[in-house]
Amino acid sequence: MMFSLQVVHILRFVLSSSPEASKFINNKNIKFNPSLEYAFNWASNKNGVCTTKSGYAWLLSHANMVTNAQPSATWSWIWKLKLPKKLKFLFWLVCQNFVPTLFSLNNKNMAYSALCSRCGLEDENFLHCALDCNFSKSIWHHVGFHDENFILDTKVSHWSKEGSLGNLSFIFAATVWWAWCHRNLMCLNNKTWTLIRLSYNIHNMVDSFNLCFKNNSQIDQVDITSYRRRRKLSQ
Ligand SMILES: [Zn+2]
Repeated sequence: MMFSLQVVHILRFVLSSSPEASKFINNKNIKFNPSLEYAFNWASNKNGVCTTKSGYAWLLSHANMVTNAQPSATWSWIWKLKLPKKLKFLFWLVCQNFVPTLFSLNNKNMAYSALCSRCGLEDENFLHCALDCNFSKSIWHHVGFHDENFILDTKVSHWSKEGSLGNLSFIFAATVWWAWCHRNLMCLNNKTWTLIRLSYNIHNMVDSFNLCFKNNSQIDQVDITSYRRRRKLSQ
């Protein structure tokens, strides 16, 4: 059994000062390793065992000392989104720049080139593969996103937040999801889907969001209805 430095000092003092105390403690089956002068243990858990949970709590308790920021609050908007967990997780990965795009993999020496393997025109960061690449841009246009400010946004975390919290949050999130899935389908499985199929998947996902998250804003309901109408007209 290993003890923290303070506990070792206290027990040594008690053992040397009182035979009764020594006897009491020894009867509790607490034994020192005579070969160890000092021993350290994991003090963030009562039983001295380091676990993922206690390690995470320890990191959070020290984060402010290092960064003078509150990382737990930085991405809190993501976890409050009325979306399935898989989409929240994707947005979290996006905002942390953890999505394994070629640009990200190249920075880690895990890909030969950062250049987009679909168009070959620009480095493949997440904004490029999910929004700027012509293969993805056509998806956004097909589902009704034509706003130049939206298309030209250059900071991925800002773009994700504005889109996820905006009036078109459902269709935005679904399009991000399917644009990323389609990128993976093209790059990893060498397959391509038509815009009609992708649009169908996106609207299907929006419909399911609407059914599952009933406390949506009125604006979302109106927008989704208009999208459905637009879809029927285009079919
Ligand atoms: Zn591209």
